[in-house]
Amino acid sequence: MKKYNFNAGPCILDRSVIEKTAEAILDFNGIGLSLAEISHRSKDFQPVIDEAEALVKELLDVPEGYSVLFLGGGASLEFCMIPYNFLNKKAAYLNTGVWAKKAMKEAKLFGEVVEVASSADANYTFIPKGWTVPEDVDYFHFTTNNTIYGTEIRKDFDLKVPVIADMSSDIFSRPVDVSKYTAIYGGAQKNLSMAGVTIVIVKNDALGKVDRPIPTMLDYRTHVEKGSMFNTPPVVPIYTALENMRWMKAQGGVKAMEKLAKERAEIVYGEIDRNKLFRGTVAEEDRSLMNLCFVMKDEYAELEKEFMEFATSKGMVGIKGHRSVGGFRASCYNAQTIEGCKALVACMKEFEAMH
Ligand SMILES: *Cc1c(COP(=O)(O)O)cnc(C)c1O
Repeated sequence: MKKYNFNAGPCILDRSVIEKTAEAILDFNGIGLSLAEISHRSKDFQPVIDEAEALVKELLDVPEGYSVLFLGGGASLEFCMIPYNFLNKKAAYLNTGVWAKKAMKEAKLFGEVVEVASSADANYTFIPKGWTVPEDVDYFHFTTNNTIYGTEIRKDFDLKVPVIADMSSDIFSRPVDVSKYTAIYGGAQKNLSMAGVTIVIVKNDALGKVDRPIPTMLDYRTHVEKGSMFNTPPVVPIYTALENMRWMKAQGGVKAMEKLAKERAEIVYGEIDRNKLFRGTVAEEDRSLMNLCFVMKDEYAELEKEFMEFATSKGMVGIKGHRSVGGFRASCYNAQTIEGCKALVACMKEFEAMH
């Protein structure tokens, strides 16, 4: 039976990206050795990281003056590296979910954290509006896509203070005006690659402005100076990122990714809203195009387990909602197909007809 992968992360990658990674692991570029057993400083690997960096810049239209880094540690390490490198006295955070909260927790180790707004009381079912950012903060931090709750901020803010964003789960799903950010970061395993590499796009002249000493590995300047090669980088995930970016480029880049994301969302949210058994979980205007969350309507609540089993029997994988939301979550990252979304919708329709 064909499987449709709706996993939230690590998640779906185009089959060709997986196959090319597998080939490189068996025999890299026909050199008779595996990508996994050659030096990251070899003439064979250097072009990989060079092209990966160039493709990030091309796909996201990164302006001059920014560095693209491939680091380890996941987005979770960035929660601490961001304040380490940028927080002198005070930073502002928008609290839109668990990941935003975790970022705030780390920042508090380095200075005062102002929570500009929060939707925690409503279990993060909407993006707070109408907040203001104090002008005396070192930066404002927000999470573009809230993977667990299924809300998303699809715009770049114009603020008087530096803006930093965790884009772990929607980077490369739409065009972004990078010039409006001091730093953008994300764990790769949601839209870029397999787990193991973290992407950081950082404005060079914003670095070196904090008073504290920074441990070498946690100082962005180390990695900027060494082109992400201060120590051994995660070579295989970087290679997968490269293949995935080649794939994205061949599809038409992030504009094409955005168009597809909108088509997928229309199909799935359309059915969630139409079907008598289900309802969405978040404010409509804040719905994520990446993580589409839904639950059984109250009067059908007892059917949750049955739908889960039914969908699984039809090949749906990974649609169980996060424990803090319940219900279902269909993650529709870049490689998610229209066919997959239609299969899910067919499944929801069939289940409705059974009840
Ligand atoms: C998954 C996720 C993280 C955590 O990423 P790791 O790479 O596992 O540390 C952080 N932020 C967001 C928005 C995420 O979706």
